[in-house]
Amino acid sequence: MSSVLFRQANVLDVKNRDIKKNTDVLVKDGVITAIAGHIAEAADQVVDAAGLYLAPGAIDMHVHTSWDGTAISEDMDEMYGPFQAFLRSVQTVESTLKGGVTTIRDVGAPVDLAYETALAVQKGWIKGSRVIPCGSAIQSIYGHVPSIGTIANTKDELLVAIRQKKKLCVKNAIKCQWIKIMDTGGAAGLEDIGPSMYDQEQLQFIVHEAHRLHMKVAVHAVSIEGIIECIKAGIDTIEHGPDIPDEYLDMMKEKNLTLVPTLGIYKILSESADSLPAFIVERSAMVTRQQRDTFARAMKRGVRIALGTDAGSPNWGPHPVAFKEMLVMEDYGMSREDVIASGTITAAEVLGMADEIGSIDIGKRADLLLLSGNPYEDLHVFTDGLIRVYKDGDPF
Ligand SMILES: [Zn+2]
Repeated sequence: MSSVLFRQANVLDVKNRDIKKNTDVLVKDGVITAIAGHIAEAADQVVDAAGLYLAPGAIDMHVHTSWDGTAISEDMDEMYGPFQAFLRSVQTVESTLKGGVTTIRDVGAPVDLAYETALAVQKGWIKGSRVIPCGSAIQSIYGHVPSIGTIANTKDELLVAIRQKKKLCVKNAIKCQWIKIMDTGGAAGLEDIGPSMYDQEQLQFIVHEAHRLHMKVAVHAVSIEGIIECIKAGIDTIEHGPDIPDEYLDMMKEKNLTLVPTLGIYKILSESADSLPAFIVERSAMVTRQQRDTFARAMKRGVRIALGTDAGSPNWGPHPVAFKEMLVMEDYGMSREDVIASGTITAAEVLGMADEIGSIDIGKRADLLLLSGNPYEDLHVFTDGLIRVYKDGDPF
């Protein structure tokens, strides 16, 4: 058994948007076993955290581990192929953990490679962030980034695609199981953003089959037509979702759906006129305008919002970018307390892992960030003041 005792830290209580001052935290075999003003028990390692802050590791709901943010993603996949994509994924999880993001959901990579990255991390073959893999993204022949896609047009093909992902989850001992579908085009693709790629019956079928197999569904939805169909069908996380009318925000709340807005990527793309084609820059500027408006209304109406970045997309790197996303969320009007919750406890709840990660509580995994200052006062502390990252109690 190995143990770590953090002495007299200021511990972030992300659930109550509060701080427990001068508090001891004891970790045994990677799990938090005690939190108190003073813990008398001896430990293998004692960390003097007086005057420092202890935050839970961040969670990013929308990462592409196989892309590194240096070029147009699809070009990278086509030029270098799946082996290099896997190596980039390995590098991503390492740098992401080093940067303080301890859990990430990979929402699309070539040849289902994220299942392998997730397994390698789990086994300790590589050091990196915990990966919740969606595999390659299920999409129709009229696709969005087909280089990371599984093509499925008919109900029968959808059934096979979903069950293939289930098989890979079982094979690689993935407990938190998600699939991703692409329901509309995107800002960085040549296709129309336009129509919903699947009809309502197909979308409901996807949700039904995934839920029946104890899997959850994330959807890339950028056009209003697509977003509305996905909300009606009850898809668990609406990714991007820039343009959502009030009545559908209310429906999201009723159905307990989550918005993963990925604000930073569209902002960056809209500012990339020097390095990207004009149509991408223009589409992204439009999406950014819509996002500002929808994000404000979603907050006002109490829709659950979880932090996701689209890390690895063009000009949105190097990994991690979760703390850059936090700054954009704050800039668009969310309080720092809510921003931090969205990238920790809320994300853990949406993943279905709130009993394991997302906050500093007894019984949870010791995914911890030792910080020099108080992030409730300045979010830059997560990057500029990051002293050390712990995952499952191990320093990195
Ligand atoms: Zn994405």
